[in-house]
Amino acid sequence: MASEWHLIPTGRVWVDPGGPFGLVPRALWSRSQQTNEHGLVAMDLTCLLIISEGKTILVDTGLGDKLNEKGVRQWNLEHPQGTMLDNLAAHGVRPQDVDIVLDTHLHGDHCSGNTTLADGALVATFPNAEYWVQRLEFADAMHTNERTRATYLPENFVPLWEQGKLRLLHGDTQVTKDVRCVVTPGHTRAMQCVLYEGDSTPLLYVADLASYAAHMERRAWVTAYDVEPLETIRTKGYWQDWAMETQARLVFEHDTTMPVGTLIQDADGKLKVKAVNDN
Ligand SMILES: [Zn+2]
Repeated sequence: MASEWHLIPTGRVWVDPGGPFGLVPRALWSRSQQTNEHGLVAMDLTCLLIISEGKTILVDTGLGDKLNEKGVRQWNLEHPQGTMLDNLAAHGVRPQDVDIVLDTHLHGDHCSGNTTLADGALVATFPNAEYWVQRLEFADAMHTNERTRATYLPENFVPLWEQGKLRLLHGDTQVTKDVRCVVTPGHTRAMQCVLYEGDSTPLLYVADLASYAAHMERRAWVTAYDVEPLETIRTKGYWQDWAMETQARLVFEHDTTMPVGTLIQDADGKLKVKAVNDN
């Protein structure tokens, strides 16, 4: 049975560049990012739909549809390409059709769409899905500290846990013959990327190992949110080498202009991401 994948836009937010770019000087990141009149940069929330072995798999769920007014204002959430459910519907996928949700990690901008409000109660957005997340990520989300409290929001995963819908993973996990979760520590201690091997070249959903394509080009560019930045740099080094060797397509969840690219070396020997426009 052939498998397939599709990008699923779920929204765009505007954030302070200090978040995604951390210690990177403005003179450097501003070469690839423009700011709006409030000094904010655009950040997309692009998820990934995979159909493999008859299973409908969704990777990450964006900010979802249950933000209150304050949340919408705080994130400046917009839907220039429609909502998550609109874009799933465009591929003939209804919420009840999703079999597996792969949460790369449990930060609010990646998994708020896990749950939704129905008559004031928190329910699974995908009623028949099992939600897969690394066990250590779940533990960290349940035991927050001053730095992580604002982004690990219980409403996005505790109801699923209580309803027996979470599957906790112990490290790298094969999902179907073409889909694999690979643990990529750094941004969080147990973030996972998703590797799709159903085509002649592999596809890696990079999540916040490289939030924007520019982060993939420069090993030391790390977001302000990374809990273990040196670990990110080590992990990224491994996957940069892998991406060069395999010429894999890389999906950049937050990049508004380069959602998919491949890593190449330019004439000066510098790593560059080249856009891929085939999906
Ligand atoms: Zn993120």
